[in-house]
Amino acid sequence: MTPTRPPTATELLQDAGVRQVIEQAWLDSLANDPILRHEEGGWIYLDLTSGVLSFIRAIAGATSGISLSAPPTVAGAVVVGKFHTHPNPEIEGWTTGPSPSDLRIDAAHGVPDLIRAEDGVHFSGPVTRRGGLAGGPGYPP
Ligand SMILES: [Zn+2]
Repeated sequence: MTPTRPPTATELLQDAGVRQVIEQAWLDSLANDPILRHEEGGWIYLDLTSGVLSFIRAIAGATSGISLSAPPTVAGAVVVGKFHTHPNPEIEGWTTGPSPSDLRIDAAHGVPDLIRAEDGVHFSGPVTRRGGLAGGPGYPP
């Protein structure tokens, strides 16, 4: 069905496909391995004709950071969200929720960011894609 607006962060998290791709990213983050644990993430796209969501994973990140600044272009679709993981445990002094740089970058990118950590999924960024479905592929202007 042709979408009339981008999904909200809550709607994204209710989507089985979104949940699956985030859980896979979490598994791939190797949170239980103190040496190899690292951030994973990717982008969520909405097809402007069918309304179907699709996903692209980003190149694996570092121990505490991942670049999601350059989403690949998907024909006929716009970026409506992104996700990444925070695999470092709170017991070692890490913050599981959005970092100051997450908050700053997510506000600039203009789409909801779903952050999977050991204590669940946190939100950062706007509740829904800034400016609706307009603005072309990639992040909104
Ligand atoms: Zn982060």
